[in-house]
Amino acid sequence: MAPDDLVLVTNGSMTDASSLGSHTSAPPPRPHRSDAWLLWHRLARGRDDFGDPDAFDKHVKESRWESFTVTAKDPAFLKALEDFSGRETGKGGLMTFTDSNWLLTIVANRQPVYRDQPEDVAVWWGYGLFPGHAGNHTPKPMTMCSGREILEEILHHLPFDETLATRVLETSTVVPCLMPYITSQFLARRRDDRPKVVPEGSVNLAFIGQFAEVPDDVVFTVEYSVRTAWTAVAQLLKLDKRPPEVYKGHHDPHVLAAALETMHRR
Ligand SMILES: Cc1cc2nc3c(=O)[nH]c(=O)nc-3n(C[C@H](O)[C@H](O)[C@H](O)COP(=O)(O)OP(=O)(O)OC[C@H]3O[C@@H](n4cnc5c(N)ncnc54)[C@H](O)[C@@H]3O)c2cc1C
Repeated sequence: MAPDDLVLVTNGSMTDASSLGSHTSAPPPRPHRSDAWLLWHRLARGRDDFGDPDAFDKHVKESRWESFTVTAKDPAFLKALEDFSGRETGKGGLMTFTDSNWLLTIVANRQPVYRDQPEDVAVWWGYGLFPGHAGNHTPKPMTMCSGREILEEILHHLPFDETLATRVLETSTVVPCLMPYITSQFLARRRDDRPKVVPEGSVNLAFIGQFAEVPDDVVFTVEYSVRTAWTAVAQLLKLDKRPPEVYKGHHDPHVLAAALETMHRR
């Protein structure tokens, strides 16, 4: 490091040690090394102002979930989902199967999702929050399932007839992804387990990303990470332009009224 250099560290990562499976195989077990966490552990050793990575990377059974991406050569699935939900693709919300042992959710975004996506190809995705449980239809945990087996479980939860289900299975490719730390930000922690973006007295080191402390802001968002980076740069370079105040929706009467209405919706 040169004396005038600044170091911005992304400490920890929600996607570290993720592993990809395939349509025919389950994701392999996570690697023993988790580089993003290792870096934070090394930096925090012997210091009490750099947070405590142990609070976030030692509870994989509570912090993991599994996502999957589906590439479909036939629009039949999204069409059937539109008919079932009464919502045009991209205009409905996330759909959670509340009876699912894996607590499956599927997400059909507006097509095309990717710039070069061919017109006759559809892409949708989803995730299971309890991938360690046996499925309702599949007698094994989601973590041990291939992409095709995950799609079979999804189809089991939907009221589609057998002909359609077979067609969907034969024209889709499903790639599962196991993410051991995806919700580690939400684990129980102490106030100082996340380091301040700019630790007390630091002139050239800052922490950025999902595991740096931003009072009042909400993790699992791009905005949160951007705010840490903006704060770091503004503070270390002594710039006037600071990030805007965090919007506090829970202080807004309109938001509270809408929340109350939603709570009583049937
Ligand atoms: C499935 C999923 C759905 C999501 N949905 C949403 C959503 O709808 N809305 C939303 O706002 N957010 C969403 N998020 C969260 C959002 O993607 C993250 O909060 C955001 O990407 C974090 O940005 P980041 O720059 O802090 O970290 P990252 O995007 O993880 O970038 C950190 C980078 O640092 C690299 N790195 C880590 N350690 C090292 C090292 N030691 N040396 C060199 N490089 C290293 C990593 O490889 C990575 O490229 C979602 C995330 C996932 C996984």
